[in-house]
Amino acid sequence: ELDVPTWLVTGGAGFIGGNFVIDAVAKGIRIVNLDALTYAGNLDTLAGLQGNPDHLFVHGDIGDAGLVGRLLAEHRPDAVVNFAAESHVDRSIDGPAAFVQTNVVGTLSLLEQVRDYWRRLEGERRDGFRFLHVSTDEVYGSLGDSGKFTEQTPYAPNSPYSASKAASDHLVRAFHHTYGLPVLTTNCSNNYGPYQFPEKLVPLIIAKALAGEALPIYGDGKNVRDWLYVGDHCSAIRAVLERGRVGETYNVGGDAERENISVVRTLCGLLDERRPRADGEPRFSQVTYVADRPGHDRRYAIDAGKLKAELGWQPAHSFEQGMADTVDWYLANEDWVGRVLDGSYRLERIGGVAA
Ligand code: NAD
Repeated sequence: ELDVPTWLVTGGAGFIGGNFVIDAVAKGIRIVNLDALTYAGNLDTLAGLQGNPDHLFVHGDIGDAGLVGRLLAEHRPDAVVNFAAESHVDRSIDGPAAFVQTNVVGTLSLLEQVRDYWRRLEGERRDGFRFLHVSTDEVYGSLGDSGKFTEQTPYAPNSPYSASKAASDHLVRAFHHTYGLPVLTTNCSNNYGPYQFPEKLVPLIIAKALAGEALPIYGDGKNVRDWLYVGDHCSAIRAVLERGRVGETYNVGGDAERENISVVRTLCGLLDERRPRADGEPRFSQVTYVADRPGHDRRYAIDAGKLKAELGWQPAHSFEQGMADTVDWYLANEDWVGRVLDGSYRLERIGGVAA
């Protein structure tokens, strides 16, 4: 009993956190999952864990110091993994305040509670404790036609989202240098895969393509992102948590730079193969170009060489395999998407603990 590692995961009802929690429980980790269930939190994602004694869902905010302090004292986790965030760039343009509240103020409050908990740990438990902060490559700003982000690239966030994530990264760093808190930070490129909220490019395009609707593409469609299958991001986070050097940051990426329009072409092709349109027309014909996002970063590319060399991490999915698996998942789980689109995912709660 005592040997089972316990991790406090925040934001584990979201896209990446949900994938991470499902995987960690399957690998024998006990998870306390703290999530505020914003529009992005979805308990349907965790339905397969219902009744599993190794998963405790707690409905609450990372900024609720009293709640977080009680959870730490009661469950005595060996690690805290912070996924909780407002994560959608377009929403940050419409309303930056929520991003500062959760990503900056919330993360600071979480850090203070974790610091106080860690200070009271003793011996091996204290030495082994880790706080891992999950962040994004968007903190580095936009690249020209060449070059890649490394861990040495200066921060230059351009959206309210990336600015708030940059601020949280700096606070995490400061808690290591000022208080000695054993922190790790990962900065990852664009994720795709199962359970992603259909406001993000990949699930949005799949849903609209299947519905026969217009596929909206920002600007000229030539903005470049690096794409990584969510399961490979989760394996990177575990590698960093288990073997990363305290105080370090690790870039995570898939060496899969693609223009947005090329991602859309790939998705349309996969859907046409698996479920051709009734009229036989290619779904790529549904593409319509819309006014560009303000301040839209042109290109992101990530050098994950440090993670690969130091920790031996490799992604298990190529871009092509990951996209094919993702399309297959959305075709097999149309009810999951349907309940997001019609809002019913917010109406039910599985047996969690109310804050
Ligand atoms: P998401 O929006 O799908 O999930 C965020 C989760 O956090 C939701 O379940 C939400 O309910 C929860 N949450 C929000 N505010 C909270 C609060 N105050 N307290 C507790 N829970 C709260 O996001 P995601 O795509 O899974 O991203 C997770 C993390 O990974 C974020 O920190 C994001 O910045 C980072 N990241 C995402 C990507 C990507 O491509 N999606 C890439 C790199 C890094």
